[in-house]
Amino acid sequence: MRLTKKVFNDLAIWMMGFGMVVGLIFPFFMVLLGMDRTIAFSWWFFLVCIAAGLCVGAVNIFLAQSIVGKRLMTLSEHMQQIETHLKGISGREDILDCTPENCHIPVDSEDAIGTSSRSFNNLVDTLSASMRLEKEIRSYTSMLTSHLETDQLCKSALSKLLEMFSIPGGAILVETSGRLETFSSIGLKQNDQLGENQMILSCMQSLQRAVVDIPEEVQLDGVCTTFRPMQVIVQPVVYKQVPLGVLVFALAQPIAKETADTIELFSSSLALALHNALTHDQVQKLAAVDPLTGLYNRRFGMTRLHEEFVRSIKQDGSLGLLMLDVDKFKQVNDTYGHTVGDRILRSVSTTARSQLREGDILVRLGGDEFMVILLGANREDTLDVAESIRRKIEEKRVMYGDQEIHVTVSIGGVSFPECDANEEHELIEAADRALYLVKESGRNRATL
Ligand code: GH3
Ligand code: MG
Repeated sequence: MRLTKKVFNDLAIWMMGFGMVVGLIFPFFMVLLGMDRTIAFSWWFFLVCIAAGLCVGAVNIFLAQSIVGKRLMTLSEHMQQIETHLKGISGREDILDCTPENCHIPVDSEDAIGTSSRSFNNLVDTLSASMRLEKEIRSYTSMLTSHLETDQLCKSALSKLLEMFSIPGGAILVETSGRLETFSSIGLKQNDQLGENQMILSCMQSLQRAVVDIPEEVQLDGVCTTFRPMQVIVQPVVYKQVPLGVLVFALAQPIAKETADTIELFSSSLALALHNALTHDQVQKLAAVDPLTGLYNRRFGMTRLHEEFVRSIKQDGSLGLLMLDVDKFKQVNDTYGHTVGDRILRSVSTTARSQLREGDILVRLGGDEFMVILLGANREDTLDVAESIRRKIEEKRVMYGDQEIHVTVSIGGVSFPECDANEEHELIEAADRALYLVKESGRNRATL
């Protein structure tokens, strides 16, 4: 029953009242025990008993104040500290950094106060963990939005996820052209074969996470990690019910289900970023590629030439540039039609490509004109490649019904630094001049 607004005041009233009642009853109790009635019922004995009852009440209040009140004060002081800290960090990047030493209330009694303290400590731990997770999510999300290239996105996402969950190894596989390709990997071996792994493929199909525990006694032959894994988690990365790839984690220690659920949460934000990056890659590719031949188009080719020219200057390297034009191509179109002309253009581009090294760049400038950028090629290399392209195209036959069609090309080239150029367009002009001379002097020839 509440008498005042303060619990300790209520307690004091109850204790003093009870002391007084005990003081009033005490003389009758003494008479029952055989005390002389005249003494027991005298006014001074009543006074003494009431005074004694009040004293016991007062001592009780003092004890309650100093024992229970002090503990309650400690509890409230800790709560105030956390409240002040929370107010201080709200809206900032900081987190509630709570260790048992600086935030917990000591739990040293098995009663309501002990239970309250324990609940408070748990509350603070949960709050601290959720703020830490929120901070991780914020930094992870900002990392995801800062990458548009699939490659870079996968690398950054993987290292961030491994760091956040203290996982020693993992990989991100992404589906490209119908097969799973490893885009980034840390601490794993045999990355090339990951995309053919049965468990990974079935996760991609079922869209369900797979968790495989590897008991310690199991002998692992040909372990595909640089450490001994105890658990493997395969988490599909799904965007609108479509699997884009998988996250593979190899753990040195099995993790709790809640942590695995959190990983799933992180994988869904990766899915959105990955979808954006893949779309961006596709758009980039479409913008850079000539639809007829699949070669780089003029715009992209010119950008690449600029980059490679600048790199050659900086690194004192060499560079070869070829301009290639099909001879009398109008006649081919006029004789066989545009569709056959298109086939010839595709055939010319494949044949030219076959004579180039991996890093060399073949560009369709437009019409029947192509450009080749030969990385690290000197004058001799450039001429050799030009001649082998010319010869292969001359030898190549394209069938049109029973007829064999063959075309020739004229090639003009230039090599840097043999040709003194300050800008890449000077190289283009020099190669164009060489091509013009070839055309003038009868075609089907390569010259620098
Ligand atoms: P030259 O030996 O002097 O180069 O003679 P040419 O007849 O090849 O002359 P030019 O290079 O100027 O002609 C290019 C022709 O390529 C003109 C055009 O009809 C044809 N052409 C341009 N783009 C395409 C295409 O996408 N497909 C087809 N089939 N023909 C194209
Ligand atoms: Mg031509």
